[in-house]
Amino acid sequence: MNASAYDFTATGQPRLQGKRALITGAGSGIGSAIAELFAREGADLVLLDLTAAPAKAVGERLMETTGRRVMAVGADVSSSTQVDAAFAEALDAFGGLDILINCAGVNVFGDPLQTSEQDWRRCLDTNLTGAWHCIRAALPSMLAASYGHIVNIASVHGHKIIPGAFPYPVAKHGLIGLTRSLGIEYAARGIRVNSISPGLIMTPAAERYFQSCPDPEAERRHQAELLPCKRIGRPEEVAYAALFLAGDEARFINATDVLIDGGRSQIYHD
Ligand code: NAD
Repeated sequence: MNASAYDFTATGQPRLQGKRALITGAGSGIGSAIAELFAREGADLVLLDLTAAPAKAVGERLMETTGRRVMAVGADVSSSTQVDAAFAEALDAFGGLDILINCAGVNVFGDPLQTSEQDWRRCLDTNLTGAWHCIRAALPSMLAASYGHIVNIASVHGHKIIPGAFPYPVAKHGLIGLTRSLGIEYAARGIRVNSISPGLIMTPAAERYFQSCPDPEAERRHQAELLPCKRIGRPEEVAYAALFLAGDEARFINATDVLIDGGRSQIYHD
C-alpha cells in the first residue's frame, strides 16, 4: 500500500480534525482524559461506559468547551450483545469510526488460589474479551474505509509481574497479544493496532486502591518512591501517548506497545 507524503503545512492544525473516535471507559480516569484531549484536537466522539450517565457528563462538558459533537452510550464491554448494539448506534449516528480506544478495565488483584471463578471471568471478560468485542464491532466499517487506528490501554502488568496481583496481569498480557496479532492481521488493509502500557496513574481506580490500604498516605508515598521519577503518573500523560498513536503522525507504528511508566519497569534491582 502506498502512503502519500506527510503534509507538513498542516502543522499547527488540531491533530485529529474531522476524525471520529469511540473511547470505552470514557466516564472516568484515563478514558475521560483521552476524551478531553481528543475533543480539543478536533475529534468528534462516542463515549462508552458501563452506563451512559458518567460518559454523558463528560460529553456535555466537552461539547460546551470544544464545540465538538459528542455522544454517550451505555454498554458493558464484556457483553457482545451490548457492544454490538452500542456500535450500531454509534456507526448509525457518525457514519463510521476512524479511531477506537479500548480503555474500559477493572483491577482484579489477588492470590491465585483464592481467586474465584467469578473474579477470573470478570477480569478476563472486561480487560481482554471486552476489547476484542469492541474491535470486532469496529473492524467491518474500518476495513470498508481502509482506515482505522486502534489503541488498547494495557498495563505495565502486561510486561512485569507483581506478586498478589493475579489475574490482572494474565488479562493485560493477553491484551498486548491481541494488539500484536490483530495489528499484523490487518496491516495491509489500512488498520493499525497498538497498545499503551501505563504504570501507576493517579485516577479514581488508583485512589480506590489507596483507600483500601490500612494507611493510604503511607502507601501513596511508598508507590511514588518506587518510581525513578519519584512521582505517580497523570491521566493526561497517557492521553498524549494515545493522541500520538491514534493520529496519522504514527502511521508507520503498528502492532507494538508503548510503556509509559516513568521508567519503573526497566529497573532490575533498586
Ligand atoms: P477508572 O476506574 O478510573 O476508569 C475505568 C472506566 O472503565 C470506568 O468509568 C468504568 O465504569 C469503566 N468500565 C469498567 N468496566 C467496564 C465494562 N465492563 N464496560 C464498560 N465500561 C467499563 O480506571 P483507570 O485507572 O482510568 O483505568 C483505565 C484503564 O487503564 C484500564 O484498562 C486500566 O486497567 C488501565 N490502567 C490503569 C492504570 C492506573 O494506574 N490507573 C495503570 C495501568 C493500566
